[in-house]
Amino acid sequence: MNTPMENPVKPRVAVHKFSSCDGCQLALLNLGEDLLTLAGRVDLVHFAEAGPLDPDADVDIAFVEGSVSTPEDIERIRHIRAHSRLLIAIGACAVSGGIQGLRNGVFGEEWVTRIYSHPQAIASLERSTPIAGHVKVDFELWGCPVSGPQMLAVVNALLLGVTPRDNADKVCTECKRLGYPCVLVTRGIACMGPVTRAGCGALCPGIGRDCYGCYGPAENANTDALAARFRRQGLTTQAIVQRFQSINSQAPAFLAAAEKIRMGGDD
Ligand code: SF4
Ligand code: SF4
Ligand code: SF4
Repeated sequence: MNTPMENPVKPRVAVHKFSSCDGCQLALLNLGEDLLTLAGRVDLVHFAEAGPLDPDADVDIAFVEGSVSTPEDIERIRHIRAHSRLLIAIGACAVSGGIQGLRNGVFGEEWVTRIYSHPQAIASLERSTPIAGHVKVDFELWGCPVSGPQMLAVVNALLLGVTPRDNADKVCTECKRLGYPCVLVTRGIACMGPVTRAGCGALCPGIGRDCYGCYGPAENANTDALAARFRRQGLTTQAIVQRFQSINSQAPAFLAAAEKIRMGGDD
């Protein structure tokens, strides 16, 4: 990212939705009092879920939730990019194509006809793709959903004129720092923490369950080693593939890992 905010006085902000469940927008709404404070520092010109409506406005910061899934989405994201100084993609849908990316490669006429009673009403593209596949993105926030405090930190950084911090380390680093017992080591549960990007505060291990990778691949993720570990624990090829092919199935590191695991097959 190379364009921090230069004018911290009431920047104009928009929140746009593409193919998504709205959960990342809710994460912003759930900020409560912090959101009210934020609303006093920015001019929130478009945020349909919260009230303001002006999707064509010129803005300083556009937050974009959701993936590009229809021909109309392609036109709309180009329009938004042309009217936004900074564009921030928020959530797994926007940064990797999301859970709906599981259809990539299998979507076709026959599939649509089998599922929908009026297939002629379906105008989806064959692939669900991230925002960065279509326009320049200045910063990406991973997670399903993103964390509200993380979004707030990004806005605060931009208001201060600095580049937001991108933490691409692993969930394990947060987990260890917080002193949580490792579910992988102590209970043999197939935790994705060693290959998943930090940022959630090791939410799932914190309540005694496995990370399922909702923050997407971490930097230098050793997917081979984790897949081998899962195999030693007795997971089948299919079960290991499914660990990598869920919310961020189309993130290149997870896609490549799943392909490699499939090629290896069961012993
Ligand atoms: S990333 Fe998850 S929570 Fe956010 S919009 Fe997509 S499906 Fe919903
Ligand atoms: S519980 Fe998961 S995230 Fe925590 S240290 Fe173990 S493998 Fe890493
Ligand atoms: S621990 Fe993993 S699955 Fe749970 S919120 Fe964090 S990144 Fe997502």
